Amino acid sequence: MVIALFGPPGSGKGTQAKALVKHLRIPQLSTGDMLRESIKQGTPLGVKAKGFMDKGDLVPDSLMIDLIKDRITGPDCKNGFMLDGFPRTVAQAEALDQMFLQSGLKMESVLSFQVNKLELVDRLSGRLVCTNCGASYHEKTKMTQMPNICDICQGPVVKRDDDKSEVVEARLTTFKESTAPVEEFYRSKGVLKEINAEGSEQEVFQRILAAIGRGAK
Ligand code: AMP
Repeated sequence: MVIALFGPPGSGKGTQAKALVKHLRIPQLSTGDMLRESIKQGTPLGVKAKGFMDKGDLVPDSLMIDLIKDRITGPDCKNGFMLDGFPRTVAQAEALDQMFLQSGLKMESVLSFQVNKLELVDRLSGRLVCTNCGASYHEKTKMTQMPNICDICQGPVVKRDDDKSEVVEARLTTFKESTAPVEEFYRSKGVLKEINAEGSEQEVFQRILAAIGRGAK
């Protein structure tokens, strides 16, 4: 089973991905997390990607395609995986189709998260994330129990560099210009499922399970 989570920054893909991979028992492949880890480790990919990410731009397709190609050949991806943040351009979606031809896997569902713009800006500008496990918090609506310490793993909880207000607008524009066409790509293949991603995490989770035909276990 291959599922992709699709939607603008702040639409809750990462949060829902974490809940879903536990439920479905498949690995989560978050390209944003992979890039942030590369930056932390100072790898050549991290060095190249940082400049694009800091401006709210996309990292070039060739780098992203190589990154995913390499990752999905891992033994843990043999029976499927969940993509979070990939593909973000039509070129990436086409490259993924080519990879599937070789592996025999296929895209089962692309879940397109729908959230109004005001709420997106509010979520992103108040978002805090754990640099260790990636758990997501919010300054006003979902605070950590201890200031800036992750409730789950006790890692440090910080604001992402690209959640600063000047970068948030650029990321939303990038989504509209480069990423939104990916939705049409998958709609035409009949695998796109629109998800109302407003409301509580639990409500959205239940809507996703209903959309992919897997009730709570
Ligand atoms: P995310 O954590 O998914 O919001 O991603 C953070 C940033 O990483 C994005 O704003 C992009 O700069 C970069 N990024 C993540 N995934 C991709 C992708 N599939 N293609 C290009 N850039 C990406």
